[in-house]
Amino acid sequence: MSSRRWRACPECDWVSALPVLKVGESAFCPRCQHELVHRHDAPAQRILSYATAALVMLLLTLPFSFLSFEMGGIRHEIVLSDAAFVMFDNNWPILALLIALSIIVLPGIFLLMVTWLYGSIAMRVKLPGTLFIARILSGLKPWLMTDVFLVGVLVSLAKLANMADIGFGWSFFAFFIYVILLARTVSIVDADWLWFALEQEPQPPSFAKRGMTAHEQGLVGCKCCGMLNSATERQCQRCHTSIAPPSPLRIQATWALLISALVLYIPANIYPMMYTQTLGGQRESTILGGVLQMVDMGSYLIALVIFVASFIVPIAKIAVLGYLSYLASKPAKLATPKKMQLYRLTEVVGRWSMIDVFVVAIMVALIQGGVLLSILPGAAAVAFAGVVVLTMIAANTFDPRLLWQAELNADEMNDAVNNMEQAGAKRNA
Ligand SMILES: [Zn+2]
Ligand SMILES: [Zn+2]
Repeated sequence: MSSRRWRACPECDWVSALPVLKVGESAFCPRCQHELVHRHDAPAQRILSYATAALVMLLLTLPFSFLSFEMGGIRHEIVLSDAAFVMFDNNWPILALLIALSIIVLPGIFLLMVTWLYGSIAMRVKLPGTLFIARILSGLKPWLMTDVFLVGVLVSLAKLANMADIGFGWSFFAFFIYVILLARTVSIVDADWLWFALEQEPQPPSFAKRGMTAHEQGLVGCKCCGMLNSATERQCQRCHTSIAPPSPLRIQATWALLISALVLYIPANIYPMMYTQTLGGQRESTILGGVLQMVDMGSYLIALVIFVASFIVPIAKIAVLGYLSYLASKPAKLATPKKMQLYRLTEVVGRWSMIDVFVVAIMVALIQGGVLLSILPGAAAVAFAGVVVLTMIAANTFDPRLLWQAELNADEMNDAVNNMEQAGAKRNA
């Protein structure tokens, strides 16, 4: 056995040994091309500078004016947290909580945890709680939705632009920088480097072999730190996360979540997303109604963004995950690389469906209690947020390793071994 670090691919379970990487290089799974590790340049120093700068910007997004709205001589200003508080005032505490968590609280906690962990590594002192924090850190990543919120702000401004004068406050600019710095921090935080820096790399079980799946040889790859463990262990030897081989039983959890999301998709489309009250009376608009309204106003790009993000993506995501769950429980019928592309796509695009919920929150916060115009949230907003959250959890419960279990044939195995031998699973990022 070599002293190289071994990995079981988290997506297809294939065992390979990581090559020695230079800065900027990545190692890919020879079987499914999933990126196993990427070598960053001076990660601790860079992350510490990005994360502390992002924290400062987060603090600056809170106190000052975020946006202002002026119509018919009446001016109204909001701060960032109003987007959440206004939902609380309108008796939708769940939406208020979701918005506050995804744009302020969770990113704040994430940045503090990152600073604590990488600070501990940079100072070479083991601060209390580092292992616990490192275990939960990557689970937070999909729930940090500041980028989606920023697009939501831009869409709401485009919707309001011909109705009123909109102004940007200092906090808006701070928010913009905060979004960029947070995205940079998230992209450099890397579980592989982190666990190596914290706990080194224990040797995998002596019977481990490359070029076959971990499951076939009684091994399990840890989902959290990547370490290869014997399947007889209950916890990962390095990070102590509980480990489990790919189990078809998990598919039932995915199904349950998908069906619940599908049920909520109906009220999300039937009920109004928001109510617009003017002197002339009250008008309701559903998701599709809002899209048509944008088409009438000639804002085709916004109509397209909302139509794709709110109508197509959620139902497509439910359909794709349902299809993959079906395939994972049956002998496979589709070429596997295509399945993996579908799976990766659902993981990436799903969170962008939150745009319309954020648009409603911003418009309600900005235009409330006015004499000429006020906007109130509708029941569809909470149903829709439910669809997005449930499909995100469903994607998380789905175990892509199951898609590969029925697939293994002799040709594929030989090809993969040859590829690995030739390229050392290495290619430039
Ligand atoms: Zn793989
Ligand atoms: Zn682990």
